[in-house]
Amino acid sequence: MALINAVTTAESPAETLGPLLASFNFKVDVPLTSDEVEALATWARGLRPVFVEDDQERAIGLLNEVMVDVPMQPHISDHGLGPHLHYGRPGAGLVDRVRANTAVALAFVLCEYGGGRLGVCADAGCERVYADISRGPRRRYCSKTCLNRNTVAAYRARRSVPQGEGPA
Ligand SMILES: [Zn+2]
Ligand SMILES: [Zn+2]
Repeated sequence: MALINAVTTAESPAETLGPLLASFNFKVDVPLTSDEVEALATWARGLRPVFVEDDQERAIGLLNEVMVDVPMQPHISDHGLGPHLHYGRPGAGLVDRVRANTAVALAFVLCEYGGGRLGVCADAGCERVYADISRGPRRRYCSKTCLNRNTVAAYRARRSVPQGEGPA
């Protein structure tokens, strides 16, 4: 989600993508090349409809479609982080590693939690997506910031109506 949000909402994805991917433990040579940035942006835009789609079966179909072109070869790797699973081919470039790992992560959420847990923020002015893997009621906002802003707005709207003041 962070990748999708970075390329669809950030002002300068070129500068933000490298550190972002590094923060998810991807091995990244910064700065990214413009080809890498473009390929990652294309990939993220291709994944976004999976979050937008409300129908679970269609969301699964969309994800299966984008995964067709991703070279996958699951293997265990240990580059100083302890043994963990990589989904792309050994020695794959950054773009293919990101594509393989994000596709599988999204597939995992879809299978384990259902498409209802993937969505686009309900805030009118926000286009960020989220994957909600918490227990408890389904969330509708990308962040506490958006949730709080809308909770306050709804509270004010409720209070202002009976007093006949109209919206502030
Ligand atoms: Zn790794
Ligand atoms: Zn939001």
